[in-house]
Amino acid sequence: MAEVTELDTARKRYEFKKTLEKLAEKEGSGTELITIYIPPDKQIFDVTAQLRDEFGQCSNIKSKQTRTNVQSAISSILSRLKYYNRPPENGMAIFCGSIKLGGDRTTLDCTIIEPPEPVGLYMYRCSSHFELEPLMAMLEEKVVYGLIVIDRREAYIGFLRGNRIEPMSGVTSTVPGKQRKGGQSAMRFQRLRLIAINEFYKKVGDRASEIFMAEKDFFERFKGVLIGGPTPTKEEFADGDFLHHELQKRIVGLFDVSYTNESGLAELVDAAQDALRGVEVMKEKQVMDRFFKELVKDDGLAAYGEESVRHNLEVGAVDILLLSSVLRKARVRIECQNCDYAEERTVQLEPGKSLRDMELGNCEKCTAPLFLADETDIIDELTELADASSTGVRIISDDFEEGAMLYNAFGGIAAILRYRTGY
Ligand code: ZN
Repeated sequence: MAEVTELDTARKRYEFKKTLEKLAEKEGSGTELITIYIPPDKQIFDVTAQLRDEFGQCSNIKSKQTRTNVQSAISSILSRLKYYNRPPENGMAIFCGSIKLGGDRTTLDCTIIEPPEPVGLYMYRCSSHFELEPLMAMLEEKVVYGLIVIDRREAYIGFLRGNRIEPMSGVTSTVPGKQRKGGQSAMRFQRLRLIAINEFYKKVGDRASEIFMAEKDFFERFKGVLIGGPTPTKEEFADGDFLHHELQKRIVGLFDVSYTNESGLAELVDAAQDALRGVEVMKEKQVMDRFFKELVKDDGLAAYGEESVRHNLEVGAVDILLLSSVLRKARVRIECQNCDYAEERTVQLEPGKSLRDMELGNCEKCTAPLFLADETDIIDELTELADASSTGVRIISDDFEEGAMLYNAFGGIAAILRYRTGY
């Protein structure tokens, strides 16, 4: 069950991300695209009151076209808000305005999003683009890493949440410098110094363990510990079992950093970028490795290319469907204006180009013009097919070798099969 939930979450995230990408491409001719964020506890009548006020102030807008466009956007939003007594559970975001279509053409476009997390602010904005930052922030990974930078004089502990660093606590040591005071024997000084270093490591380990283990949903969300510092301090600290054993086994790596105060945390995150991405990629890589293993076998359970994978999905033979995250295609249904002729095609989506401008040609039965009856993003369409036969779907990024190959060599669509079908 956990597996299914994880896939489900990943897919919802993907769909949410795609919606935001589409909104990000939309542009107005002037300052006429309206963005509204409504938090769950905001009264709808407060919002409609402000909108009526904004409508009145439109008379100040000099350009007649902009004025008309802003007013029709506001009217459109007002008519949609009539259906809400109160905001949905997580609040809502509204994006409405006249979108440039190319040439002189525009179309009034309104999208209402009920986001996966609560909206934390009220915002009304009129601009030449939609304001997406608050929703983008919800896309950030919810995983957490623990950060420790340490040398023998001081240490600093913090969290990495998504892309944000949260400094937590500094620890300073009482380890004496290398210069001993007069009268002390060299051996005794050295022994005391080692004891003090050990004490300091222990203090840092205890503090870090306490802070990291207190993290909410630790076992689900805490992905690892990054340790930075000079050599050999960070190695001594990592090898010495100073951290709780649950943290000890989650050490992702050791990295050279020159600062061990608060600013060392950022340096550590920079140094660890590759390792962090590596943890994410690992799962995607494992499933791609399985695909390649099947691919090289004589009777292997691998299929690739849209046609083959589609056939296998239709007969329920796919165990895991592999789709490249950079796939930008649509499945379109084309019908004849005159007779009952219809066909489905897969077409490449080009940024900034509308499918409505596509050359469709004429009907092969009666030569009347064809028209675009329906369009679906191919990832949605194939995912729906997969759902019908309880097939797992993995969206694979292209920023590692096997992931890039899925897109470049296999057209971004592949599958690991339950059994061979001859397609
Ligand atoms: Zn026809």
